[in-house]
Amino acid sequence: MDFNDSAAEAAFRHQCRQWLTENATTKQRPDDVFGSDLSQTALLSQARAWQRKKAAAGFGAITWPTAFGGMGGTPVQEVIYRQEEAAFNVPTGIFNVSLGMVIPSLFVHGSEAIIRQHVEPALHGDSLWCQLLSEPGAGSDLGMVRTRAERVTDGRDGWLLNGQKVWTTLAQFADYGLVLARTDPQQGKFAGMTSFYIDMRSPGVQVRPIRQANGEAEFNEVFFNNVFIPDSQRIGAEGGGWKVTLTGLMNERLSIGGVMPPKLWQSAADLMLRSPGKHGHHTAMQDSRNRQKLSDLYLNAQGLWLLQCRGLTALGQGKEPGAELSIAKIVAARTLQDFAYFAMDLQGARGLLDAKAQAPGWELVQRLWFGSAGMRIAGGTDEIVKNNVGERILGLPPEPRTDKGKSFRELLDEGHSS
Ligand SMILES: Cc1cc2nc3c(=O)[nH]c(=O)nc-3n(C[C@H](O)[C@H](O)[C@H](O)COP(=O)(O)OP(=O)(O)OC[C@H]3O[C@@H](n4cnc5c(N)ncnc54)[C@H](O)[C@@H]3O)c2cc1C
Repeated sequence: MDFNDSAAEAAFRHQCRQWLTENATTKQRPDDVFGSDLSQTALLSQARAWQRKKAAAGFGAITWPTAFGGMGGTPVQEVIYRQEEAAFNVPTGIFNVSLGMVIPSLFVHGSEAIIRQHVEPALHGDSLWCQLLSEPGAGSDLGMVRTRAERVTDGRDGWLLNGQKVWTTLAQFADYGLVLARTDPQQGKFAGMTSFYIDMRSPGVQVRPIRQANGEAEFNEVFFNNVFIPDSQRIGAEGGGWKVTLTGLMNERLSIGGVMPPKLWQSAADLMLRSPGKHGHHTAMQDSRNRQKLSDLYLNAQGLWLLQCRGLTALGQGKEPGAELSIAKIVAARTLQDFAYFAMDLQGARGLLDAKAQAPGWELVQRLWFGSAGMRIAGGTDEIVKNNVGERILGLPPEPRTDKGKSFRELLDEGHSS
C-alpha cells in the first residue's frame, strides 16, 4: 500500500483543486459549516446549484460510468475530490442518498426508459431522490417490511401502495422515492418484496417532517394511502426488491469511510487552548487527562485513515473491501460522538449556549453533538455491524434464527418485528 499520490493521482488532485479554487470560496477555518444561517429550503437550493455546477464540470459523479454521465473514475479519485472539496465552503451531503445509493441501484436494476428519464436530472441536481425502506416495525430487519403493494384490478397496469415508512431522509424535499413494498406475504420474508419508484407528489402520499432536538427536520414519516404506481415504475423483477435494496445498501457502505471531518483533532486542540482549565490549570490543554483524550482522537483519526486506505487498495485491485469498512463505520461514528461530548464538557455551563453565542468553530461541535448519535444508527446500528463483524469476519456462530423456512404471513401471525 502506497500512501503517496501516484503521478496520475497528483495530476487529478491538481485538476480538482484548480477547479474548486476557480468556483468556490475557501473555508476560513477547517471547522466552518456551510449554510448554518440558511433555512433548509435555501440550503437545498444552494446544494442544487452546486451539484449542477459540479456536474457541468464533470465532477458530479466521479465513480459513475461515463455511459451514465459520470467521470468513470476510481474510488481513490472520489476520495481525492472529497479531500480537496473539504477545504472549501460548499454544501455537501444533500445528494448522498440520491446519487450515492438510489441512482446506482437504478443503473443495475432499472429499465432503460427509467434510466433515460431520471439519471441526468438527478446528476444535475434537478431532481432529488429519497430512500423509503425503514418502517416503525422494520429497521434493522428490513425483511419485516409491511407496506404493501397490490395489483389493481380495474384494468390499469399497476399497483396500489398502502402503509407507512419512517426516518426517510429529506423526503419533504424529494421529487422521487425508491420504495420497498411487500407484494407477496405468502413468500419468505425476503422473497416477497418488490421495489418501485414513486413520484413523491402522487395523490395519497403524505410526508410529515420529524422535528429533531436541534430544531431541524432532517427526516420524515411518509404515509401511503392507495397510491397508484404504474407497473413501468417497478425496479427489477417482481419479488426482487431485496436484491435492489442490497445494491443500495452496498453503495452506502462504500461511502461510509468518508464520514470523518478532516482535521477534527486540530479543532479539538484549538478548543482546548481556548477553554479555561480546571484544578488550577490556565487552559484545558494543560490538563494531562484532556491531552490523553486528544491523543485518542488523533489516533482514531489516523487509524480510520489507514483503514480507508486499505479499503481503497482492495477496491483498486478489483476486490471487495471487507472488515475495514464495517470497523471504520463503528469507530468513526463513536469518535465523532466522543469529540462532541468532550468539546461540550470543556465549555462547562457555557456549552449549553447556542452555537451563535459561542466562539468560531462551535457550529461543528453543536451539529455533531446532536447528530452523531444518529450516525451510530443510520446505515446499520453499532450492534448490527458488530453482529456482522462477529459472524462474517471473526467466524463466530450466527445468531439463532427463528424465521427460517416461514412465510412472512406466518411470521406476522407469530408477532415478529425488527
Ligand atoms: C440519521 C438517519 C437517517 C436515516 N435515513 C433513512 C432513510 O433515508 N431511509 C430509510 O429507509 N431509513 C433511514 N434511517 C433509518 C435507519 O436505517 C434505521 O433507524 C436503522 O436501520 C435501525 O432501525 P430501527 O430504528 O428500526 O431500530 P431497530 O431495528 O428497532 O433496533 C432497535 C435497537 O435494537 C438493536 N437490535 C436490533 N436487532 C438486533 C440484533 N439482531 N442484535 C442486536 N441488537 C439488535 C439495535 O441495534 C437498536 O439498538 C435513518 C436513520 C437515521 C438515524
